[in-house]
This record gives sequence, C-alpha cells and structure tokens, in this order.
Amino acid sequence: MVPAHLPISQTDPAVLRFAPSPNGALHLGHALSVFENAAMAERLGGRLLLRIEDIDPTRCRPEFEAALLDDLAWLGIAFETPARRQSEHLATYRQALDRLDAMGLVFASFESRGELKALAAARAAETGRDWPTDPDGAPLYAGRGAGLSPAERAGQVASGRPFALRLRMTEALRRLGRPLAWTEVDAAGADPRLVAADPSRWGDVVLGRKETPTSYHLSVVVDDALQGVSHVVRGQDLFEATAVHRLLQELLGLPQPLYRHHRLVLGADGRKLSKSEAATGLASLREAGATADDIRRLVGFGR
Ligand code: GLU
Repeated sequence: MVPAHLPISQTDPAVLRFAPSPNGALHLGHALSVFENAAMAERLGGRLLLRIEDIDPTRCRPEFEAALLDDLAWLGIAFETPARRQSEHLATYRQALDRLDAMGLVFASFESRGELKALAAARAAETGRDWPTDPDGAPLYAGRGAGLSPAERAGQVASGRPFALRLRMTEALRRLGRPLAWTEVDAAGADPRLVAADPSRWGDVVLGRKETPTSYHLSVVVDDALQGVSHVVRGQDLFEATAVHRLLQELLGLPQPLYRHHRLVLGADGRKLSKSEAATGLASLREAGATADDIRRLVGFGR
C-alpha cells in the first residue's frame, strides 16, 4: 500500500538515498553523488539508503548490480542493508498508477517512438512552428491517445499492441489548481530556497508501459515516500524532472522531501559522463591503481 501521507517532521532523523540504475558501470559522476549524499547524511546525523532502480528489464542486469555494489564498497561508503530493489515492488507502483487512472488522469498511447517523432514533425509543418520538446529534448506527446474512448483503449490493449500509460498533464494541473514548487537546500542541507516547478514542460509524461506498470518518475516518487526519504540529493541532470515528481506527490498525497541537485562531473569534451565510457568508470580507475581518496580528489571532494 502506498501510504496516503507520511509526514516528515524536522525532528525525525534525516533519510537520504543513492539510487543508481544497474544499466552500466558507475562512473565519477556517481561517485560525486555518493559523496554528496554521505556528507549530508553525516552532517545531519541521518540514515543513508541504497535503492537499485532496475525497472527496465531490457537495460538492467544483475552483473551491473553486483559491480556497483563492489564499487560502493570500494569507495568506503556504508549504506543500510538490504537495498530496496525496485523490480521487486512492481505491484506497489501499479497501485499508485491505478489510483491516478481512477482519478481520470491516465490515458494509453499506442504510437511507436518513430510514429511520435513523425507526428511532431507533421504538427510543426502544419503550424509553421517548432513542436515543443521536453527538458530532455524529446518531442512532447503529439499522438491521439488522450482522445480514445474507454472502449477503443480496451480494444487496442486486447489486441496485444505495445502501449505507454501517460499522465493527462493539463487535466492533472487543473485538478491541482495551484502553483507548484519545491525546496532546494545547500550541501549542508541548509539555506532553503523555493524553486517554482513547471511540470507542463514535460507534456503527457509516461507513467508506465505494457510490460512495466511504472516509470522512473512514478517509482521514484512512490519509493521516496515509502522509504521516508527527507532529502533527495542527486545530480543537476534531474533538476527539471523534480517538477514532475512534485506534481505526482501532490496528486498521490505523498510528502515532499527537500531537494539538492549537485553539479555534474563533466568529461574532457565538456559533456555529462556516460556509463559506456571506460576511462571515467570507477572499476577501470580502480584497476589502474586509483584509491578511493584519489576518486574523491578527482571529483573535487578531497579531504
Ligand atoms: N536512477 C536514477 C539514475 O540513475 C537516479 C534517480 C534519482 O536519484 O532520483 O539516474
């Protein structure tokens, strides 16, 4: 069951989490996130949890999970055990998705990725204006799923076609009826400042798929609440996603944690590191003779 409300009072011990996806090798960027989480947990006298975000069976593999556990042990950061593995909690996410569906906030879309790209291009040609993209650069949903009748939806599902379950963004915002924000804190968990959240920039975000009754956005929000996470410390690349998370928290009646989005470690080309780049992978650096303290220094977290 997803609790309707898990109040996080200021006197509760802080709860932080590092939430990697086992779909590749951890790199220096992950190390920075681990150090940021551990440092804040230590400052606040809080708990540090590990969550394995493995809902995508096509990309996540047990050997990546084993390797990331080795990497974390090598970095010398202790997490509470057992780690929560998202693939073991799909029924919980499905409940949250069903609740949103019962509120009339979910529709099914049956277009392929290629079809959606073509639809966005067609809409742009029609209007003479670029079709909007989300903060990650993907075109906003331009398909006709939101307009399907319940019978059409059921028929398509019964036909066995793949589908995505999406949030009716406009409807969700109307239902909420008030502006959204989140509280961003500094590295010490102090100096709170309010950040306005605009989830509409993401359009009708995916909340689940035919084979998986959840998405990154939905499971992260459900788990942060279930695990009583008080401080979400993660990279700047997830800053914009927080707007969606705040909206889902409000719709599901979940508490809002504080957030800190830390700087990213950039590669020599100035871009965000990738899990497929061996040179900045923690295991490769370890094999090349680096120590955990070297890693701290490399990411500017030296002591
Ligand atoms: N699993 C996500 C990732 O590896 C991080 C989720 C989060 O910290 O909210 O990028």
